[in-house]
Amino acid sequence: MSDRAQREDMFEGAPREPIPKILFSFYEDRPFVSCTRCGESLSDFSDGYKVSKNFKKGEVIIEYALCMPCMENMMNEASEESKRVLHEFQEEHFRNVSGFEECALCEKTRDTARGEEFGLTGICQGDDMIDSAMICIECMEAMSEIISEETRGKWNRFREENFPGVPGDFEPMPEKPTPMVF
Ligand SMILES: [Zn+2]
Ligand SMILES: [Zn+2]
Repeated sequence: MSDRAQREDMFEGAPREPIPKILFSFYEDRPFVSCTRCGESLSDFSDGYKVSKNFKKGEVIIEYALCMPCMENMMNEASEESKRVLHEFQEEHFRNVSGFEECALCEKTRDTARGEEFGLTGICQGDDMIDSAMICIECMEAMSEIISEETRGKWNRFREENFPGVPGDFEPMPEKPTPMVF
């Protein structure tokens, strides 16, 4: 089965809900309309797209939306070694929880995340959210540490190009262990 066919299958019967406000673009005060990387209209991607926002002490530090082709390209820019270690990390830690209350990779809740720092991710299609995850800062750091210098550099460039002035570690966009949660 092609990737696309698999994805459409996966969306079928998935619980859908309108994209919650917390995933709206903070800067634009509305849902994301275009891909942060290629600028294409997100509603044109039947495969869906991913919205990510990182928060620290209640403030949005970084936010972006990526269409699936851009997400795949970002992943493909990672070294084979980075892809492998990320995949293993997630296989090992994934807790099979969705939603924004509990870290998908450890037992931290949103309220107990160190320094009130965490990332929220939604997999969306059109105006709906199909899957969601919270990742606490410690798990983001753990993933950032295991990827290669080169991969980290490439992903950091994406951050610098799109979010000048945003310091710190950029969420390393892990691969899915399960249906594209991240
Ligand atoms: Zn794109
Ligand atoms: Zn965690």
